[in-house]
Amino acid sequence: MTTVAVIGLGIMGGPMAANLVKAGFDVVGHNRSPDKVKTLVDAGGRGADTVADAVRDADVIVTMVPDSPDVEEVTSGEGGVFANAEKGALYVDMSTIRPDVAVGVAQAGRAAGLRVLDAPVSGGEAAAIEGSLSIMVGGEADDFAAARPVLDAVGKTVVHVGPAGSGQTVKAANQLIVAGNIELLAEAVVFLEAYGVDTDAALEVLGGGLAGSTVLNRKGAGMLAREFAPGFRLALHHKDLGIVTTAAREAGVVIPLGAVVGQLVAAMVARGDGGLDHSGLLKLVTELSGRDQNREES
Ligand code: NAP
Repeated sequence: MTTVAVIGLGIMGGPMAANLVKAGFDVVGHNRSPDKVKTLVDAGGRGADTVADAVRDADVIVTMVPDSPDVEEVTSGEGGVFANAEKGALYVDMSTIRPDVAVGVAQAGRAAGLRVLDAPVSGGEAAAIEGSLSIMVGGEADDFAAARPVLDAVGKTVVHVGPAGSGQTVKAANQLIVAGNIELLAEAVVFLEAYGVDTDAALEVLGGGLAGSTVLNRKGAGMLAREFAPGFRLALHHKDLGIVTTAAREAGVVIPLGAVVGQLVAAMVARGDGGLDHSGLLKLVTELSGRDQNREES
């Protein structure tokens, strides 16, 4: 049986680990705050108190932690993944991090005798629960082929997009598109409410035309109801818009709309709303329009 270590059992890593258990893998989970390990154990996995204990006998190691420094922390040092995993083990970072950091992590992992992939995901909490994530994978083709059974257990659209770091570059583009999409949906909702339109009916018909999107399908109803429990925290989207802004600048590419959305997301985080779902951008658009936060009659 293939043993998979999963480090980071949060909104995404928790359900992904549960789906790996369902697919028949022997899953060992570790999380910084230990309470989340219990949920995995209840679902049929095993718990580990440290990163080293989690990875020691693992064939495949998955990390799903927030940011670039977190990935560097869990992989490096005496207690990290690279010092404690078996030579030849497959290390798959599924967090969203900077492409240049992903390249450095791949180099350090290979120097330690591991095979390394960057495999960030899209689809949000719902797709993590359903096991239907989109997964964009950077690294060697042979390593991608070896990781397929694990990736297929958590994802539906699984694509090798190029060498190390490429998965993160594609994910940065994904985050640019999603943020812009949410902002325009928020603006449309406030606009429709200002005219007293039946917004449920409006989103239904918009969803069937060219304005339809996965963002509208997954986030529309929650926005109308002003339900902003995460999902995907604005603080994490702020991180991702920083990644795409920097990477675009380094490539000499301009992303004017992305820059505006990045500033709006930054404003939400600066005023203390970073813990809300990214659909919480609706709050800011509502306020900028001088309208009440409660759903309005006309
Ligand atoms: P999250 O709910 O904050 O989960 C992150 C988990 O990592 C937390 O449980 C955290 O533990 C744990 N952690 C952090 N540092 C750790 C360490 N050094 N060792 C062990 N565990 C550690 O975040 P998430 O929403 O699952 O996102 C995870 C990654 O997926 C991020 O890179 C995000 O950008 C990406 N992503 C998220 C979504 C989404 O919709 N949520 C979608 C696509 C991609 P604590 O409990 O102690 O905080």
